[in-house]
Amino acid sequence: MTAGFQLTFLGSGSAFYIGDRLGENWQSNLLIEAPSGRRLLLDCGSDIRFSLMERGLQATDIDDVFISHLHADHIGGLEWLAFQTKFSTQGRKPNLYASKAIMGDLWTHSLRGGLGCLEGEDASMRSYFDIHPIARNKGFEWEGVQFRLVQVVHVMAGSELSPSFGLLFTLGSTRVFFTSDTQYTPSQIHRFYQEADLILHDCETGACQSGVHARYEQLIALPDEIRKKMWLYHYQPGQKRDACADGFAGWVEKGQQFAFPLQSCHAA
Ligand SMILES: [Zn+2]
Ligand SMILES: [Zn+2]
Repeated sequence: MTAGFQLTFLGSGSAFYIGDRLGENWQSNLLIEAPSGRRLLLDCGSDIRFSLMERGLQATDIDDVFISHLHADHIGGLEWLAFQTKFSTQGRKPNLYASKAIMGDLWTHSLRGGLGCLEGEDASMRSYFDIHPIARNKGFEWEGVQFRLVQVVHVMAGSELSPSFGLLFTLGSTRVFFTSDTQYTPSQIHRFYQEADLILHDCETGACQSGVHARYEQLIALPDEIRKKMWLYHYQPGQKRDACADGFAGWVEKGQQFAFPLQSCHAA
């Protein structure tokens, strides 16, 4: 039990780069813990069993999961979570929240190959999770908090956008905008920047430019009042610019916690 909500970055790194040593950083997946002790994962990537273990947690400690989009750094740990919770003695299914735009593909294109192989059962997503597909322009409620999905521009696949969703929610009295993975598209999301007290924004660094994430040299062009409430994650290992000197709130470190009511933004 905690006094308020707590948000922890289990990792703050990018999808593919592990740095110079194992555990230097993990993929950017977040954990929100409610005062009741209930735990919600925001994305469940390939690194999740390591990043949870580092916080002293295991699969059965996770009650609920939100999935933003179908890249493996956001869903690659779901097979592990599903099997671990299904065959635990507790026998409790996590709730799985995702947009209707991705829920079907999450099973048929991503999870079915592994989770569809279940002895004695014609398995479906419902064999492992209580699923909550979310309609357009809607959200979900968790522990009395309304989470609103915000579609972001992450990948233009041919001539169509691949669906990807950030979140807008209020913990304590702090309005939080979590971008998940997005390109730099301030004209599409500026009102969410303005609405938020705290912005958690993916930020690509390094020489290799994927074209699917906001980059530091783009975000630095945002107005001062936006940058000063913006924490940066999903970055590559290696040297980075001094984000605080450039007017940002800072780089999110692995394990960094935000407590709500917002008390401290320092690494724990
Ligand atoms: Zn990602
Ligand atoms: Zn992605």
